[in-house]
Amino acid sequence: MILLRNAPCDMNFLFDMPWAGGYLEAIFLEKRKILNNRTGMIEAIGVREHIRCLEGVKDDIVAFHESAARPDDALRRIWIADVRELYGVVLAAAELLPSIAGGSDENAGACVQFLGAAESLNRQVLSELKGVRSKASRRLQRRLAEAFESCHDRIAETVRPFVRANDGQPPVATVSRAGDTEFHLHCAVCGEVSFVFRIGVPRFSTEECLVYEGITHAGGVDRKHARRIFTLLDAGAVGRAHSYLMRKKLLEDGIDAYCPECDAVYCREHYHANEEWDDGFYDCTTGTCPRGHHRIIDD
Ligand SMILES: [Zn+2]
Ligand SMILES: [Zn+2]
Repeated sequence: MILLRNAPCDMNFLFDMPWAGGYLEAIFLEKRKILNNRTGMIEAIGVREHIRCLEGVKDDIVAFHESAARPDDALRRIWIADVRELYGVVLAAAELLPSIAGGSDENAGACVQFLGAAESLNRQVLSELKGVRSKASRRLQRRLAEAFESCHDRIAETVRPFVRANDGQPPVATVSRAGDTEFHLHCAVCGEVSFVFRIGVPRFSTEECLVYEGITHAGGVDRKHARRIFTLLDAGAVGRAHSYLMRKKLLEDGIDAYCPECDAVYCREHYHANEEWDDGFYDCTTGTCPRGHHRIIDD
């Protein structure tokens, strides 16, 4: 999942990645509409030819999946949608470049987020191709890896000078209160809010519960646990809240942003969250904290 805390609010749909990838498309189409009149400028920035190459690989992967004599039609359609989405995300990132060159800080942040989403999708599409063991599949994997890398690197290199450095400071305390029924957990390195607990109604639900928003996913648990969790957080006992969530089987991996060995919270960037894919299916996300502690943070 991709977390877009600094992104414009309409992009918070991406929050539900990778399970709600369909939202991506709508957002990119919207972005594309806005930027359509400026896409010509990408030519000048020199990304166009790399995008064109990626488009060619995308078309070949679609044709490959379409032609395969595979019984599972639904799966094939998903794989085709995934590679199209990958291309759409890279294109969306590229299309932001002209406005970034024009001084839009907000779009520079959004572009970096798109690149992050694209990296994850790329791993997913590669893993889907790996599921088909043939020479043609291996060739496509190689071509995709190369085409994606050149697009990614070119866009990343162009956007880098415009991205404001993360000049956050370590927080005064790991836990802060944001009202009677909302708690924020801060990254030990940069202070960014990396985990939120609040009373509210989660997306795709109508019932009020204890909502959590982490660095890999968001959701809600029964409201009856809120008192216990809030008491622990009030005392700064993040580790105990983490253990409680696991012990009660509310969150299998506890607070995803929390490193038990450090007894500290990290943002997605500082926890080096890494999504793993297996034969096209999301497997898990691992985190490695700045001190090298490694664990599965979402399974
Ligand atoms: Zn951080
Ligand atoms: Zn650690």
